[in-house]
Amino acid sequence: MMSNAILTSCQYQNYRRIDLIVIHCSATRATQRYTVDDCRRDHRARGFADIGYHYYITRDGVVHRGRQLYQVGAHATGYNQHSIGICYEGGLDIRGRPCDTRTTEQKETLRRLIQRLKEDYPNAKVVGHRDLPGVQKACPCFEVS
Ligand SMILES: [Zn+2]
Repeated sequence: MMSNAILTSCQYQNYRRIDLIVIHCSATRATQRYTVDDCRRDHRARGFADIGYHYYITRDGVVHRGRQLYQVGAHATGYNQHSIGICYEGGLDIRGRPCDTRTTEQKETLRRLIQRLKEDYPNAKVVGHRDLPGVQKACPCFEVS
């Protein structure tokens, strides 16, 4: 019985405890196209193994898969281990200032995605990147709460 219990716990090491769902923006201008492939390329150029987020929502409201949920992301220093990272394309106005540039489609997709994740992770808290302690950025440029 004991060995079975250990086996079970080992299998579950593939799954992560999720405490946080962190919302980000790509910090690109509303007028600039910045696809999930652009984001993945830039993150890899920074030395990441892959795009740092788990989901990426483009301006058309389409949600693109980043890392798998069982994989630790690279999006919130000190909080990656037990979180899911979601990023929307945009976050800066045409002059490059922080701005909630989400399209109606992005808002709707983000709301539905969070709803679905909350079904699987009911205890996870949904926060904006800037709501985490020590973060000096404006990201995601809107009030998540
Ligand atoms: Zn961020």
